[in-house]
Parts: sequence; structure tokens; C-alpha cells
Amino acid sequence: MRTSNLLLATLRDAPADAEIASHRLMLRAGMVRQLAAGIYTWLPLGLRVLRKVETIVRAEMDRAGAQEVLMPGVQPAELWQESGRWDKYGPELLRLQDRHQRHFCLGPTHEEIITDLVRREVRSYRQLPVNFYQIQNKFRDEIRPRFGIMRAREFLMKDAYSFHLNQESLQETYDLMYRTYSRIFDRIGLDYCAVLADTGNIGGSRSHEFHVLADSGEDRIVLTGKGGYAANIELTPAPAAGARPAATAVMAKVATAGKHTIDEVCGLLNTTPDKCLKTLIVVGKDGSPVALVLRGDHELNRVKAESLPSVRTPLAFAGAEVVRTSLGCSVGSLGPRGLNIPLYVDNAAAGVADFVCGANEEGFHLTGVNWGRDLAEPQVTDLRNICADEAAPDGKPARIARGIEVGHIFQLGTKYSEAMKAHCLDEAGRAVTLIMGCYGIGVSRVVAAAIEQNHDERGIIWPASIAPFQVALVPINMHKSERLRAAVESLYQELTAAGIEVLVDDRRERPGVMFADMELLGIPHRLVFSERGLDAGTLEYRTRRDTEDRAVPVAEALSFLRAQLISV
Ligand code: ATP
Ligand code: MG
Repeated sequence: MRTSNLLLATLRDAPADAEIASHRLMLRAGMVRQLAAGIYTWLPLGLRVLRKVETIVRAEMDRAGAQEVLMPGVQPAELWQESGRWDKYGPELLRLQDRHQRHFCLGPTHEEIITDLVRREVRSYRQLPVNFYQIQNKFRDEIRPRFGIMRAREFLMKDAYSFHLNQESLQETYDLMYRTYSRIFDRIGLDYCAVLADTGNIGGSRSHEFHVLADSGEDRIVLTGKGGYAANIELTPAPAAGARPAATAVMAKVATAGKHTIDEVCGLLNTTPDKCLKTLIVVGKDGSPVALVLRGDHELNRVKAESLPSVRTPLAFAGAEVVRTSLGCSVGSLGPRGLNIPLYVDNAAAGVADFVCGANEEGFHLTGVNWGRDLAEPQVTDLRNICADEAAPDGKPARIARGIEVGHIFQLGTKYSEAMKAHCLDEAGRAVTLIMGCYGIGVSRVVAAAIEQNHDERGIIWPASIAPFQVALVPINMHKSERLRAAVESLYQELTAAGIEVLVDDRRERPGVMFADMELLGIPHRLVFSERGLDAGTLEYRTRRDTEDRAVPVAEALSFLRAQLISV
């Protein structure tokens, strides 16, 4: 490919709202352009990378014996009503009506569609187990689309669904998919780890997520070292609190006007956040408020809160106005004492004696408060995120890393097959409800995740497996020299014939501009042609990570490059 024949839409600066490196670099390198919030066009250069990820994913899924299908993006509401998710999925599901006022949605995932297909087409145990996959655009009306294609509303996913007669068979395919995902991310060249995960909107029992480790990751994962505990913080139990110390203080009411946050109150009362309790008000199942009480230095765990029977999913905080009218003061003055609504208290919060909390009266707090003395012994539960260095479930200190979720595998069991009556006859001719697994990879998100892990101040540094081109040929002042043009053309033909993907920068640009663009694009190998070099019979070579050039004889360029391409 020649740059004259490629939409090279590089930008010197990225738009100010691009917060993370991959988003900035994908825009600057001209890989994608935003059409609407969370909705992107892939430009030719970006699409080359996306297709490479797709090709690796497809090859490994085929290798694992999965069969490729392609299901529609538009899905009839009836199937979602059958599974019960039409009502449960919430506003992330983009719903629409056709000209006959029939209801549809744009598929955020395809469990209903595949289950419908399998209940019609798969009749006998002889056809099982079976694993179908597709690489297809998904639509999720994300509440906060951000970071470019990392959290988009329309994105490319590989989703696979397996069907089994029994749990052992599901476990086998699940393990195979686990290994397949590991091969995929190894082949792409990512630094990743697999962790135990929550099953969220998809449902089911056992599940693992695959995370690319990067500081910009939206997820937090808990690790205790090689072969140790590894799980998403969402489902990592926080350690139980030790025995509560005895009460020593007398309860008192103090004026704290104007002090709302835990830090402000601590500053005024000369105490620390671990001695204060904060009270958060969330919306209950029936719409009325529910209180969650945590230590001031602890963080609420959304998934744990959502698992409480009286809390509405997805978790929503009660608005400031609702809190004021129903509870009589602002959130900053709330406390568990005398609060007449359902109250869940985190283990650690229940372990504090002589604590500070809001007095449920605007501008006042209580100090020296004690459970079992000043208010009833609490209903205790695990509501918080584990903190770094606390004991993880394997007893070792927790390290908390940031991860980008690129893949997720689930054991669904019979959640969909039961609701949608997907049966099959077993050997004895009995109808058995099928057991399901499902397996997703965020194909487009992988592109962004790879950039998060592989870039520098000059641009992207592609892992060899997914680079848009393997080699950049950069001629200096080609328009001035027929000899140079001929040398470039000849090597271009030779490399292309050898199956190497080459981008020739045939623009009439200054060398600095061409170098900067090729570095921004992240092409792994670069060969520079100049009159002076040709006089000496050489080209200048460097990899995207090098800072120095190496002279390579023109005649050996192909064999030299071949060797380089194998070694990286
Ligand atoms: P997240 O927690 O990031 O929202 P999820 O748990 O909703 O992800 P799954 O339903 O497991 O995601 O979807 C499978 C894969 O699709 C995810 O592992 C992720 O890589 C990708 N994915 C999910 N949502 C998005 C999105 N909005 N934009 C891009 N990729 C996404
Ligand atoms: Mg999601």
C-alpha cells in the first residue's frame, strides 16, 4: 500500500475530551472517527488492525471446534420476553418498533437468538456438544460511553454459545474456551490475566474474565501472586472485622454545620475516617429508600449491594431532594441511629466502637456512638471493596491492579434453555433441558487495550501480530531522484511478493513529517531510502522501539527483514 492510496488522516493533536492514550492515539493515527457518542467509523488503517484481531480470534475459535454463524443485529422482543430479559435488561437495551408497531431491540448479546435457533435445529444428543460463534456488532446504550471504542455503544464482539447434555460436558468446553482465550491473547501479545468474575446481566454461575493489565483500566482486580487468588474486586469477599472493642466514650451531639464530607467532619472533630461511619441511601426494590452503612475510609461495592434482597438492580442512589424530603436532612448529616428505613451495615462498620456518624438532623453529628448500646446491633453484611494489603480469600495480602476486560466466559446452566424450553432427547429418548455456556471477546476493545499497553510519547507501538503494516518504506526526496524511486519500487514489489505488508510513504513531505507519522502509526519496522544511502548501497533500518539506525545493504533487505519479522 502507498500512502498516496490510503486515507492517512493523522492529527497533530487529539481532541481535548480524549482522556486516555488509546483514545488519543486512535484519533491521532487516523484509525477511527466518532459519528455520535460511543459510535465510531473505522477508517482503513484502523480496520486493518481490527481485522487482524478478528482473524486471530476466528482461527483459534475454529481450531477449538466452534462453528461460525452470523446472527442478526435486530432481535424480536418476543424472544426477550420469553427469557424474561425484556423487562430486566434496563435502559442499556436499545428498543425500537417497526412500521407495524412490533417491538424489537438491537442485540447487546445473543443468548435468546441462539437458544431459539438451537431448540429448533438441534434434536438429538448425537449433535451435542455444540459451540456456535459469531463476530458481530453489538449495541449497548451505555450510560457513560467513553474512552473511544473502549466503551462504545456499538462495538464488535466475538460471542460464542455452547450447548450440552450435562455439566461435565459444559465444564470441558468451558475449560477449552479458557485455554483458547489464553492462546488468543498470547498470540496477540498482550499482558493479561484471567480472574474469577461476577455474571452480571448475562447470568449463570461460574465465570472468568480476561483482563489486560493497564493503569487506565476501569476494573479493579485482586491478585495475590503467581498461581494465587485472582478475581474481580466486585466479587472478592472483604475480610471479616475482628472483635469490636469495648465502648469507652459517652455519646454526644455536636454541631457540624457546613461540614458534609467525611474529611471535613474528621478535620473538625479531629478524628480519622476509619472511626466515622457513612450512610448511603440507595433505591430499594419497591422504590423506597434503603440505607447502606460503611466505614468512612471504605468504598461501596456495587455488585455486593445489588445482591441484597431489598435493593434495586441496577444500583441507584436516591437523589438529594428525595433524601431531604423523606429523611429530613441532607446526605452529609445522615447516620444509622434513629433512621427508620431498612439498614444494611458492612462488617467493618459494625466492628467500630465509639464512632462518629450523622445525627439525622441538618448540621449535626454524633460522636462516641456504640452499636448495641446507642442503637440496635446491626444487620451485618459484606458491602465494601477489599483494600490493598488486606487478606484475600487465600489468606495472602491482596494486590489491587487495574484491568481492561477483554473477554468473559460464563457457565450459564439452564437459565435460558429452561425459560425458552430448549430440550433435546438423550440416549434413552428422554427430553433433557440443555445446559449452556457463553463466551465473549470484545474484539474492538482489544485494539484499544493493545494500545494502552504498547505506546510511547511518539505514538503506537503495535505488537507484530496486529500491526496494520509490518514495514514502512520511507524515501527521502523521492520526487527529486528517479534512481531512488526505482529502488523503492523494486523493494516494495519484492517485499509484497514475499507476503510482507508494506506501507510506502510516497508523499512529498519533509523527512521529519514522514518519520513522525510512521511512528505515530506504530509500524514495527522502518527502512529509510536516501541518495546518500544508495551511494553506499545501503538503507537505514530501525524498529519502532529503537533509537538508532542500522545500515542494511540494499541487496539484502528482503532476507534481513524476513529474519527480523521472525525474531519479533
Ligand atoms: P463491562 O463490564 O466492561 O461493561 P460486560 O461485562 O458488560 O463488560 P460482556 O457482556 O461480558 O461485557 O461482553 C463481552 C465482552 O465485550 C467484554 O468482555 C468486553 O470486552 C466487551 N464489551 C462489553 N461492553 C463493551 C462496550 N461498551 N464497548 C466495547 N466493548 C465492550
Ligand atoms: Mg457492560
